[in-house]
Amino acid sequence: MPRTVHIIGGGLAGLAAAVGLAGRGIATVVHEATGQAGGRCRSYDDAASGMRIDNGTHILLSGNTAALGFLARIGAASLVTGAAKARFPFIDLATKQRWALDLGVGRLPTWALDPRRRAPNTRARDYVALARLMWPTRDRPLGEVISCGGPAYEQVMRPLLLAALNTDPSAASSALARAVVRESIARGGTACRPYLAPRGLSAAFVEPAIAYVRHHGGTFRFGRQLRRCMVAADAVTELDFGDGRVTVGPDDAVVLAVPPYAARSIIPQLQAPDEFRAIVNAHFRIVPPPGLEPMLGVLNGAAEWIFFFEDRISATISGADRFMQHTKAELAQIIWRDVQRVADVPAEMPPWQVVRERRATFAATPAQNARRPGVRTAWRNLALAGDWTDTGLPATIESAVRSGGRAADFLMQS
Ligand SMILES: Cc1cc2nc3c(=O)[nH]c(=O)nc-3n(C[C@H](O)[C@H](O)[C@H](O)COP(=O)(O)OP(=O)(O)OC[C@H]3O[C@@H](n4cnc5c(N)ncnc54)[C@H](O)[C@@H]3O)c2cc1C
Repeated sequence: MPRTVHIIGGGLAGLAAAVGLAGRGIATVVHEATGQAGGRCRSYDDAASGMRIDNGTHILLSGNTAALGFLARIGAASLVTGAAKARFPFIDLATKQRWALDLGVGRLPTWALDPRRRAPNTRARDYVALARLMWPTRDRPLGEVISCGGPAYEQVMRPLLLAALNTDPSAASSALARAVVRESIARGGTACRPYLAPRGLSAAFVEPAIAYVRHHGGTFRFGRQLRRCMVAADAVTELDFGDGRVTVGPDDAVVLAVPPYAARSIIPQLQAPDEFRAIVNAHFRIVPPPGLEPMLGVLNGAAEWIFFFEDRISATISGADRFMQHTKAELAQIIWRDVQRVADVPAEMPPWQVVRERRATFAATPAQNARRPGVRTAWRNLALAGDWTDTGLPATIESAVRSGGRAADFLMQS
């Protein structure tokens, strides 16, 4: 067992590692480069909109067992709200048609047999064709495994996979798409109930994790950016933070839980994903009209998912690299127009904020998936964590939490 574990990076992977280790009585120190924990899953007070907003609305599914287990462990299960049913309302802005994908509550895909529960103009056999995705094959672009076209793909598979992979699904890794489907839709409605964090990501995922780690004796050091690891033979011996060094004793260990580009600057020989995809989120300070469901899928618009919270309307665009040349004000206008087309809101745009995350996730392509390292490194006391490590899942909260738990287990066993 390590004596002290230094965790570099206070995102969800680092926090999950800290929770796993501190909970087992190991002294943990989390070193975070910025002034707050949470990384790509965080809330902040935004002066422009006058709201506390999330960098992006995050969805969990009931099949995300590691993420929900993490929330339960840190006492935050009540800070996410799960829908009673796996029902996803959609609107198609090209036709104005509204419909809902109703996956029901059971394990069997009986929804595909019922025209009222599946997408319009689709037949049960269209979904059977998509199920070919489940046949294990060498990792290839999804478009080489199934036909990425037709109403069942466009209206069901594409929106769900784009949200999970943050990469155009036809070019995305078939292995990662299969993992998403295997852990969600293939397990039926029970695994697909969506969860949101209405009081914010930091309130649900970050602050309770920090409190848990501190309660178990762990400490946090903010504004501490790791620059280099000094190594001798097979172990890391020192951490260089630029403004000071920390000795890593013979019984100590390190979890590197930073994004892949940061990991590569610390360990130049590391192979890691180096291509990324953007996500755009817009938040509007307005009380939504009554009677709307919390989330709405949008087809043939700019916004892909629109969320109706008590005090705001938020919208997400995944794989959003094509929007990166737009200004925030332009994006707010484009997205607000979509909101106006789906909900009875005023013409005048309310106070708003747009968050553009250029490197929101690694590109979930076969080539990038092949670059993901495991937990183990060339140094016996250095473990890797992060949504980009080889968890078998795309870059999601579930992947980040699993990677952190795995790094903690690895160090406890080595
Ligand atoms: C806009 C957006 C929307 C998303 N939506 C969803 C969703 O709906 N559902 C879902 O499951 N997932 C979603 N994700 C993905 C999810 O946020 C990530 O998978 C997860 O937060 C990654 O956690 P992580 O700990 O691996 O990495 P990060 O969150 O990137 O954490 C790494 C941490 O390391 C710190 N750091 C970097 N360099 C150093 C250094 N040298 N020294 C010390 N610290 C350092 C960083 O500041 C950061 O805090 C979304 C992501 C974004 C950006």
